[in-house]
Amino acid sequence: MAPEHGTVVVVEDDPHIADLVDLYLRREGFRVLQASSGERGLELIGQEHPRLVVLDVGLEGDMDGLEVCRRLRASTPGDVPVVMLTARDGEIDRVLGLELGADDYVTKPFSPRELVARVRAILRRADGPARSPAEVVVVGRVEVDRGRREARLDGQPVALATREFDLLQYLADNEGLALTRRQLLDGVWGTDWYGDDRTVDVHVRQLRKKLGDALPLATVWGVGYRLG
Ligand code: CA
Repeated sequence: MAPEHGTVVVVEDDPHIADLVDLYLRREGFRVLQASSGERGLELIGQEHPRLVVLDVGLEGDMDGLEVCRRLRASTPGDVPVVMLTARDGEIDRVLGLELGADDYVTKPFSPRELVARVRAILRRADGPARSPAEVVVVGRVEVDRGRREARLDGQPVALATREFDLLQYLADNEGLALTRRQLLDGVWGTDWYGDDRTVDVHVRQLRKKLGDALPLATVWGVGYRLG
């Protein structure tokens, strides 16, 4: 298959994991370049300008993944999407807590399919509206009509507040993916919005109240929410 989706740089010092990620991303049509150290990773990213970086947090050597991410964000242009691979809960806290600008993370052991789904979702978001996503997405018995900014339950319009609709649309755009509250906050309210997790919970509660069982919106324990 021709590498039609662009280049991904995988920075991972465990060759088995690197090869597995490499295999799955190649199957998806990406060109994959591997780096086994942070130094080499930064070098490759600088040379190749990849569309996305998969970055292990626990790298041997002078630079761990957090440091690589920090340097990447400080460089120019520095906005390449980054998916972190984390091994421990403590690492997740650091990835999220330091707000280094990783776009997403998966926890080892992860399923390569999950990683691929997250890569796709990030690139979809990064591409923005130029991709012109479907005008109407149907989830359960609910239609999410982007053009009309309208949600319909069994064909009948349901009155939603602006943010409720935005949240519903964002969930529908990422159908089948478990999203963290932070991802939802960033995606719906924007990264510069100083809200907390309860904001998401409150809006989810409203969506459930208004759409009920017709909307297959699941709480994913320890993560956040998933539609579909
Ligand atoms: Ca490692």
